[in-house]
Amino acid sequence: MMPSGRVQLDLFDPVMPAPVAPRVPAPPAPASTPIAPAPAVPPAAPVARPAAPPAPPSIPPSRPPATQASRVPTPRPPPLPDGARWRETGTEQQSIGYVLLRSRRRSIGFVIGDDGLRVTAPNWVTLTQVDEAVREKSRWILSKLRDWHTRQERLALAHTRWQAGGELPYLGRRIQLQLGTPPAAEAGAARPANPRAMQAIYTGDPELPQDGDTLWLPLPPDADHARIRDSAQAWLQRRAAQWFDVRLNVFLDRSGLRINRWRLSSATTRWGSCTSDGNISLNWRLIHFAPDIIDYVIAHELAHLREMNHSHDFWAEVGQILPDYEAARDVLRKHAPGDLPG
Ligand SMILES: [Zn+2]
Repeated sequence: MMPSGRVQLDLFDPVMPAPVAPRVPAPPAPASTPIAPAPAVPPAAPVARPAAPPAPPSIPPSRPPATQASRVPTPRPPPLPDGARWRETGTEQQSIGYVLLRSRRRSIGFVIGDDGLRVTAPNWVTLTQVDEAVREKSRWILSKLRDWHTRQERLALAHTRWQAGGELPYLGRRIQLQLGTPPAAEAGAARPANPRAMQAIYTGDPELPQDGDTLWLPLPPDADHARIRDSAQAWLQRRAAQWFDVRLNVFLDRSGLRINRWRLSSATTRWGSCTSDGNISLNWRLIHFAPDIIDYVIAHELAHLREMNHSHDFWAEVGQILPDYEAARDVLRKHAPGDLPG
């Protein structure tokens, strides 16, 4: 127990030893019954990996499963260098896309650059041998690609501009800001019933955002940056309140844990907190991140209801609530709330 009875998750969480293999997760409680403490779960038989819990019923089927481990995206760069080809190799962890170049060098080389992974191989090496080399090095490659991807995200965050055409990360996607109301054709069903209502309009599905979706803010074309930021943040905070509430309830149902209440925070140094009397706060800026990152923070804070520390038992608890949380945790460790727009 921490002396203050208050434990916070923040960027400066000390690096913890690898958690023990997570136990088999408790089955989700039926949604209609009151939340009761979870039954004690016996340690798992020594299997390598517990099965993920069944998808909770309250998640729309279109949403990615909560327990999906973070994949490192390896997008194909639009123009390939001269003489290069795009190739994807399946590995134990995930498929890795890369630019393959032939050269006169004598060995296979791996470089992570602006376009992601670039593999250079001698002319006489077969594609099968290249695949084998990528698979053999996949752990190193994915760790470097993950760092690279985090750097790219940071750059994108640093470039958010509070202006028409500015881009903003929302649930891990890049959405665009515009002022006024969308052209009728674009708005489609998203158009408000009362066209005079001054409300933001999202062209796309705010539950399943895609890169390039647009958030139309009800502001005049000459609105200054501060007004644009305030308006965009008000929308983001409303979305955060809804999204976090749904996800929190999914995890409460699944784990049988109870909380007293939760609220949005706007701390600049931490993502969430949990007090010993069951009050949870979640930083609204988490709404910028992909759903699995948000799930991780929620699972982390809920695990503190059982373990008010960052011990082995605590991480086992996190793993029980959210198996395969490690990649999401590692991504978040590289960001501070203060780095995010606004
Ligand atoms: Zn913590």
